[in-house]
Amino acid sequence: MSSTFDLYNPTEQHEMLRRMVRDFVRAEVEPQALEHDRAERFNRELFRRAGELGLLGITVAEEHGGAGMDAVAAVIAHEELSASDPGFCLAYLAHAMLFVNNFYRNSDDAQRARILPKVVSGEWVGGMCMSEPHVGTDVLGMTTRAVRHGDEYRLTGRKMWITNGMVDEQTLGDVFLVYAKTEGDRISSFIVEKGAPGFEQGQKIRDKCGMRASTTAELVFEDCRVPVENRLGEEGDSLMHMMRNLELERVTLAAMSLGIGMRCVQVMCRYANERKAFGKPLRDFGQIQRYIARSYAQWKAARAYVYDTARRMDLGKPGNRVDSDGAKLVATTMGKEVADNAMQVLGGYGYVGEYVVERLWRDAKLLEIGGGTLEAHEKNVTKDLARSWEQLVS
Ligand SMILES: Cc1cc2nc3c(=O)[nH]c(=O)nc-3n(C[C@H](O)[C@H](O)[C@H](O)COP(=O)(O)OP(=O)(O)OC[C@H]3O[C@@H](n4cnc5c(N)ncnc54)[C@H](O)[C@@H]3O)c2cc1C
Repeated sequence: MSSTFDLYNPTEQHEMLRRMVRDFVRAEVEPQALEHDRAERFNRELFRRAGELGLLGITVAEEHGGAGMDAVAAVIAHEELSASDPGFCLAYLAHAMLFVNNFYRNSDDAQRARILPKVVSGEWVGGMCMSEPHVGTDVLGMTTRAVRHGDEYRLTGRKMWITNGMVDEQTLGDVFLVYAKTEGDRISSFIVEKGAPGFEQGQKIRDKCGMRASTTAELVFEDCRVPVENRLGEEGDSLMHMMRNLELERVTLAAMSLGIGMRCVQVMCRYANERKAFGKPLRDFGQIQRYIARSYAQWKAARAYVYDTARRMDLGKPGNRVDSDGAKLVATTMGKEVADNAMQVLGGYGYVGEYVVERLWRDAKLLEIGGGTLEAHEKNVTKDLARSWEQLVS
């Protein structure tokens, strides 16, 4: 018995989305990718184009101005963008997944009416502030505090490694979802806009190994005044928001590694067919076959895991940490290894920008760190298996 179910394009809408993003990538993303990587510059015009195409509000319901799509659609967008420009894709992820989706799931009608049109169109660039200079993996150890004074909160603390923290050398990003501790050490989240009194830029982080087309910055909150209307949900309730959004973050970061893997397999296949050594195409050498075959098989295996995890996700609730962590663990190590294999197959040509894999190789490493390190994923998967391996492994 055969099935017509397509795991990667489960509906016609998904297929159309993939075609649309692929066309956008070919015409507008690819031509600017190397230049923006080298210049360490975020392409704000390209970001606005992503807004025009409906990509910035991809998981926001249509009645709120979004595309009303699911986690599989988000995976498709990240896979296709990242096959060309993971740096730009990371800025897209920080905005569309970490800010827009997170905000949308936890905001009330008044907050949505005020903020969504600006972030879905791309007029505003958003980001999410969880990590701190001394706290990454150990996120619940954060020290940023929000203390209520009447109708406002005062936020004090520093947030580190914030993607889209600045949009150019001088300018802060427009809006941030900031996690902070409130009474009883419970986590709450706040919308902080550029221009809020006490909100300032810290250092712009320069000279990253990869993902250079996205900006990264430290942000400083010094008695920063935030109106109560900018709190998301009830005070102290945001641990759940954080956990739920981390699942989508991990599955879309994993999708970025799929894009890197796909492009690297394409590049190494083409090159091994065309390039000759000792009178034969490279593909005839057993050691090269090992790189190609293993890369292809690893990419296919990771792709199936990531898409299967995404299709089981309900964006409205948490519940699949074991697989969002597991899929990112597998896909990001695959992405790095496949990029390395591609560089090896290309020899010296693989080591320079023109052949693309050099850039993807540098970008691939971040995905083993950002949104949770490999070690954090190993810890989470093992913890979840310890609790319920009998249901999960059957
Ligand atoms: C380019 C870039 C963009 C980023 N964008 C954002 C963003 O937009 N918003 C945001 O909030 N954050 C962002 N981050 C931060 C990122 O999520 C953290 O870097 C990551 O979570 C790891 O935290 P850390 O760097 O503090 O490392 P640490 O947590 O200090 O870890 C250092 C090492 O120790 C290991 N380790 C820690 N605890 C354990 C343990 N219990 N068991 C075993 N090993 C352990 C880690 O796995 C790692 O190998 C970004 C980071 C980068 C580099």
